[in-house]
Amino acid sequence: MASLADLPALTRLPHPAPTPADLREATIADPGFGRVFTDHMVVIDWSEDAGWHNATLGPRGPIALDPAAAVLHYAQEIFEGLKAYRLADGSMALFRPDQNARRFNASAQRLAMPQIPEELFVDAVRQLVLQDADWFPQVDGGSLYIRPFMFATEAFLGVRPAKAYKFVVILSPAGNYFKSGAPAVSVWVSEYTRAAPGGTGAAKCGGNYAASLVPTGEAFAKGHDQVVFLDAEERRWIEELGGMNLFFVFDDGSLITPPLSGTILPGITRDSLLTLAREEGLAVREERYSIDQWRDDAASGRLVESFACGTAAVVTPVGHVAGRNHDFTIGSGGPGQLTGKLKARLVDIQRGAVADRHGWVMRLG
Ligand SMILES: *Cc1c(COP(=O)(O)O)cnc(C)c1O
Repeated sequence: MASLADLPALTRLPHPAPTPADLREATIADPGFGRVFTDHMVVIDWSEDAGWHNATLGPRGPIALDPAAAVLHYAQEIFEGLKAYRLADGSMALFRPDQNARRFNASAQRLAMPQIPEELFVDAVRQLVLQDADWFPQVDGGSLYIRPFMFATEAFLGVRPAKAYKFVVILSPAGNYFKSGAPAVSVWVSEYTRAAPGGTGAAKCGGNYAASLVPTGEAFAKGHDQVVFLDAEERRWIEELGGMNLFFVFDDGSLITPPLSGTILPGITRDSLLTLAREEGLAVREERYSIDQWRDDAASGRLVESFACGTAAVVTPVGHVAGRNHDFTIGSGGPGQLTGKLKARLVDIQRGAVADRHGWVMRLG
């Protein structure tokens, strides 16, 4: 692995007009999700000739792009999502940022983009969070949501991998993900599919999200909170939500989550919960589970809980499932016991309330 000494150092650019403290406090009092941003950003350029260069931590602002920039035409873009948490002792920490760096590079590979050294990715995140630490929201469940992303900047309309990219990191103070703060969400089983075998389903790329907006809009219009995607081949196997992985909990205390077959996103929350559940002695299977089985098991009572998981919304119970051929309630329709227990185990580690036996928590500062 490259040591930090071999990587471009972040040049700090002064901010001409940082947000005044009173305005900042007012802005982060009720931040919601994804609509408030801090004062700074990291930008690092890559070109075929120079590799990674021009690394800056400076004022957040618009990015000038040539109208022929490849990302605007062929969507060569990938991103990550992680959070800085406040620990019990008041310091801040990241949760498994190395995993985000690794997944970012896996996405980059699938989208024919350059690899970024994991140390550079994590250091950029770390330094930006420390720079804008004053933006950490005090609200219950608050965090600094971190959005690293990379896109093709080369001005060229021919179809081939671009020869120039920007890696950028921005921060967004965040409260709870779901506006309603609902104890359990209702999901809509879409007729659209998200990912096909051999496609980009396992990559965290903007293109996947672009294709999920119509089905997500349909779910919202029908009064649901999220969309569930089935597999593209048989339209039968449950894959995941638009941006979260799914778990199913049975009356014998066992769990199922769909396997990483290449068409679902390998969630870090998913992986962490698998580890925690196995440590609890629970039987966990990474196994295909069909929509009809979901309905039948919910009806028979064999299935007692279902939940979605991801960094943004952490662990979210699924209470109701509807679709063109489906309409059923899971358990009592509210949050389940095991869901709550696993969520508490994870959140306690993320917030430093219990010992971190896995080396998942990276303290900052
Ligand atoms: C990011 C993402 C997830 C969740 O991944 P985490 O690492 O747990 O945040 C799940 N599904 C999709 C499609 C995603 O983009």
